[in-house]
Amino acid sequence: MGGIYDVVIIGSGPAGLAAAIYAERAELNAIVIEKNVVSGGQVLTTYEVDNYPGEKGIGGYDLGMKFREHADSLGAEFVEDEVIRIEADGPVKRVVCAGDTYETKTVIIATGASHRKLGIPGEEELAGMGVSYCATCDGAFFRKKTTAVIGGGDVAIEDAIFLSRLCEKVYLVHRRDELRGAKSLQKKLFSLDNVEIVWDSVPERIQGEDKVESLVVSNVKTGEKRELKLQGVFIAVGITPNSSMFEGTVEMENGYIKAGEDCASSCPGIFAAGDVRTKALRQIVTAVADGANAITSVERYLTQL
Ligand code: NAP
Repeated sequence: MGGIYDVVIIGSGPAGLAAAIYAERAELNAIVIEKNVVSGGQVLTTYEVDNYPGEKGIGGYDLGMKFREHADSLGAEFVEDEVIRIEADGPVKRVVCAGDTYETKTVIIATGASHRKLGIPGEEELAGMGVSYCATCDGAFFRKKTTAVIGGGDVAIEDAIFLSRLCEKVYLVHRRDELRGAKSLQKKLFSLDNVEIVWDSVPERIQGEDKVESLVVSNVKTGEKRELKLQGVFIAVGITPNSSMFEGTVEMENGYIKAGEDCASSCPGIFAAGDVRTKALRQIVTAVADGANAITSVERYLTQL
């Protein structure tokens, strides 16, 4: 539609797509700016989603596509562009992107989060040569091989379960003696014969010439070092919010945009939804809830203009 939008939604993960659905139903003049060619965000690289109500066991990619199709069916408008900053000094905000600038009364930031890096020797040098951050994307390259997953959260456990179906052996290297991920996932993991959990251990360096050959881990309790011979290392040590372009525009806490359940940020007319917002639980179901809440807050804000 163009002109001055009622709302510009930045990001097309579950939060952004839910916001797009609610915006269309509220008949707002809305546009979704997405950085990637395919909508869906982190859910796209999830092998299986088992806790989204009504869709038990659905593939992450399929769920992402369903969200997008739902938004499309209502007439949501999408544009592929990369947001550089928001200029928010007047009642009309300007979302400045690499390709274009969009004028709008409100903005919903739903830029999500990306995987965190370990920062150990070999990680950067061997990225794409055996070091990966996405088991569902790259797992197939390691059929009948030995791999390690680093981390103890939901993603690390899911990755280890996924890889166990392809690989001869999978190590799960975790820095404590207890996993953080969901108990139901832990139960599945503990039942697998070809997964060895390397407890109380941190990765020190990834070794290899042109391709990964081994991972050196150190036991945090004993100081003992162990070299694991393997071909792949999957890093799943959490996420960092995609928020650096909004620094100085909205208040943040450890990189997350400070906002409550109404998704209102410190800057009037700018809302934050999904993983990029300060919140206790980051799941698909809470991201889509944010999308709905953010549009409701946008509507309330627009009536006060
Ligand atoms: P996470 O829950 O933050 O877990 C990160 C894991 O990496 C933790 O076990 C942490 O250890 C470990 N870790 C962090 N920094 C490390 C370092 N420098 N060296 C070694 N280990 C390190 O992250 P996530 O698993 O990526 O999940 C992200 C979010 O998505 C979470 O909120 C999660 O619940 C959600 N999610 C949910 C589902 C689901 O419900 N099925 C699926 C996927 C993701 P400590 O435990 O010692 O802190």
